[in-house]
Amino acid sequence: MKDTAYWLDTAAPTVPIPPADSGNDADVIVVGAGLTGMSCAYHLAKRGARVRVLESHTVGWGASGRNGGMATTGLSVSLSRAVSRYGVERAVSMRQRYNDAIDLIEQISTDEAVDTEFRRAGLMNLAAREGHVAHYEREAALITELTGHPAQFLDRAEVRQEIGTDTYFGGMIDPAGASVHPTKLLGAMVQGAVSRGALIHEHTPVTGVSRTQRGGHRVHTARGDFEAPQLVVATGAYSKRPFGWLQRRFAPVGSFVIVTEPLSPELAQSILPNRRVCSDSKELLNYFRLTEDNRLAFGGRARFLSRDVASDPKSGEILQREMVELFPQLRGVAVEYAWGGLVDISLDRMVHSGTHDGYWFAQGYTGHGVQMATYMGKILAGNVSGEADNPWSDLSNPPIPGHVGWPWFVPVAGIYYAALDRFSR
Ligand SMILES: Cc1cc2nc3c(=O)[nH]c(=O)nc-3n(C[C@H](O)[C@H](O)[C@H](O)COP(=O)(O)OP(=O)(O)OC[C@H]3O[C@@H](n4cnc5c(N)ncnc54)[C@H](O)[C@@H]3O)c2cc1C
Repeated sequence: MKDTAYWLDTAAPTVPIPPADSGNDADVIVVGAGLTGMSCAYHLAKRGARVRVLESHTVGWGASGRNGGMATTGLSVSLSRAVSRYGVERAVSMRQRYNDAIDLIEQISTDEAVDTEFRRAGLMNLAAREGHVAHYEREAALITELTGHPAQFLDRAEVRQEIGTDTYFGGMIDPAGASVHPTKLLGAMVQGAVSRGALIHEHTPVTGVSRTQRGGHRVHTARGDFEAPQLVVATGAYSKRPFGWLQRRFAPVGSFVIVTEPLSPELAQSILPNRRVCSDSKELLNYFRLTEDNRLAFGGRARFLSRDVASDPKSGEILQREMVELFPQLRGVAVEYAWGGLVDISLDRMVHSGTHDGYWFAQGYTGHGVQMATYMGKILAGNVSGEADNPWSDLSNPPIPGHVGWPWFVPVAGIYYAALDRFSR
């Protein structure tokens, strides 16, 4: 079993090595080459800006190369909760950004003529407890009434038509949800950015930042210093010093994915006949989808105490057990990949973006970063270029109380949510 992500193993982006290890010739420096950073660099390069991307490891090394590749519609809170927090008009417009973000993935694939395995087969939310069914019934009605994008409620019998298990009590389908091969998407943006002159420095961790006399930014790395008038920090759940201000504003939670060997077409059809991307209603949820070569990618927040989230065989075993409990027809099917990564969960489960100390940032995608990180990279490119549009910049963004660096509270939260799942009916 491989402990690399299936996406990176099958399509790691190819990045040309830049000619120089330092310089002050860029208009914008972007730190972090995940979906946020690469989308920002790509959209800046399209606008004609000179961009340098600095990445500690390789493009997609962080959450962007390790996720489930599910572009899920809807905010990370329900529409009903968003309405009660922000009012109808704002909640609907926030939710629309998530749909726009999925359109953007399709647009990038088309513009760069790259097959990113984008497939709009719809998102299916699944009620793991009987008591969760009514929520989906109300939510589907509210989405249909307020947004103009109908969502479909499913009762237990209807769910059974959509999935090869008797486990779920009901659910909801949002047809706008999609799947994508995330590192092929990154590859499309690398190609588009580099062909327009962007320089991507892999294996170049940023160790410090300071301001220049002219109000720009000097960025320090072991290879040398870089200067630019504008700085974008896109370090996601892997943020730490010198970006401690960002680090204290989200919880880095381990999430894990396994990928099976390719399934026969009949077996794949028996599991998800309409190839929807799925997630269930548990607090410590499971999410799953088929890949284009008919493997099942099955994920979950399996362990909160794992020391090495990138490679954790125990989490792989837990997930395989859960997968076979859900789909007994997969007993005996080999699991070929198991990996993990960190998800940036914000306290209010909303995206946070704006400026701090003169640099731009976007984070807190709370499990919805495949499309939203891509989208926020584009929004940041606009902001850096002087545009005002940023849907989240006015949301209050305090640090997590007691968070000084090591996220001691994450295992505590894990125990709490596991207990909620155990007692939820
Ligand atoms: C297991 C897992 C499953 C997920 N599944 C889904 C899913 O199905 N759907 C969904 O929508 N979302 C999912 N997510 C979340 C989604 O992947 C993330 O929200 C998104 O990829 C965040 O992108 P990003 O570019 O902001 O951060 P990242 O992709 O984490 O990139 C940050 C980069 O910054 C670099 N970096 C950090 N510090 C420095 C420094 N000092 N100098 C230079 N570089 C630095 C890191 O090396 C890293 O490459 C999942 C996440 C995980 C971990």
